[in-house]
Amino acid sequence: MAEREVPDRFYDILIVGGGPAGLTAGLYAARASLKVLLAEGATSVSQITTTDMIENYPGIPEEISGFELIERFKKQTSQFGLEITSGDVASIAKKRLGNKEGWQVTVGDSAYDTLSVIMATGANWRKLGIPGEDSFLGKGVSYCATCDGPLYRNKEVLVIGGGDTALQEAIFLAKFVGKVTIVHRRDRLRATSILQKRALGNSKIEFLWNSVTEEISGKEFVEGVKIRNVQSGETLDIPADGVFIFIGLIPNTDLVRGIVDFDENGYIVVDSHMKTSTEGIFACGDCINKLLRQVITACGDGATAAFSAQLYVESLEGKSY
Ligand code: NAP
Repeated sequence: MAEREVPDRFYDILIVGGGPAGLTAGLYAARASLKVLLAEGATSVSQITTTDMIENYPGIPEEISGFELIERFKKQTSQFGLEITSGDVASIAKKRLGNKEGWQVTVGDSAYDTLSVIMATGANWRKLGIPGEDSFLGKGVSYCATCDGPLYRNKEVLVIGGGDTALQEAIFLAKFVGKVTIVHRRDRLRATSILQKRALGNSKIEFLWNSVTEEISGKEFVEGVKIRNVQSGETLDIPADGVFIFIGLIPNTDLVRGIVDFDENGYIVVDSHMKTSTEGIFACGDCINKLLRQVITACGDGATAAFSAQLYVESLEGKSY
């Protein structure tokens, strides 16, 4: 996108992403009296808002949904005057701002100049890439149990994957459906042991081990899937009313491709201060290369990114302490 000479507004920090990482960065930056704008996607939502139950966020012992937790984050940021705009970020480009290096970020039809950018763009669900996955989307294929689970009351569904998300969502689905079959490509689960115990002990949940899904079929709606056992090579057609796919994440990092370094899986590489390989650009949350993707770690990253960006802005303005 062509650089706009006169921007709509000028900021110290522009945060891209309205999930736990971005909102925490916004909370810290606004509380530090910086000029900060958070751009939350207009056509995308933070993944956490589709999670039905969070029980491991410290200080909230009662179960809380991801949606409600984010609402609480927003309420808290508003107490410190964080400015939030809803719109998809189209581009981030280097721009000379007077005697300083800065960035121009376009959000929808608006262009904002900023001294620093914090990427908190999260990640999206990975797809299987098999026949029927796209054509039956919304007609039996889903990536969100919280959104679609209640539609499958007393029906039979498959959950694909063996990680935390697959097991947590399978346990959630078991509240509504008649039967959940978890199809996993290995004979060992990747999920944490507490979720494994709950899923293995749930009478409505069965497992199909060493199995991959090759095709999703049906007429108007999903009616079944073709499964292949990776050890025997045997294929099996099993009936199903719904297929819930939870096979991991793809980081939303295209906006800064070629601007900052990525790891081999496309996650943004940061140091312990959430600095990327490029001065003035920081990153936090699920879009960075890290060990543990949780709300609590996203919040920690967000706070660090905001403080790092603050130090950076102060150094540009000759106000370092
Ligand atoms: P994940 O940990 O990457 O697990 C993905 C699962 O899908 C793995 O079991 C993987 O199999 C399988 N898989 C990947 N590609 C596949 C393919 N093409 N076909 C079939 N199966 C495939 O992803 P996740 O479960 O979405 O979790 C993402 C992050 O969020 C993790 O860090 C997780 O800990 C976190 N999370 C935490 C909680 C919680 O603590 N309550 C809840 C949800 C998510 P293999 O095991 O064979 O690789």
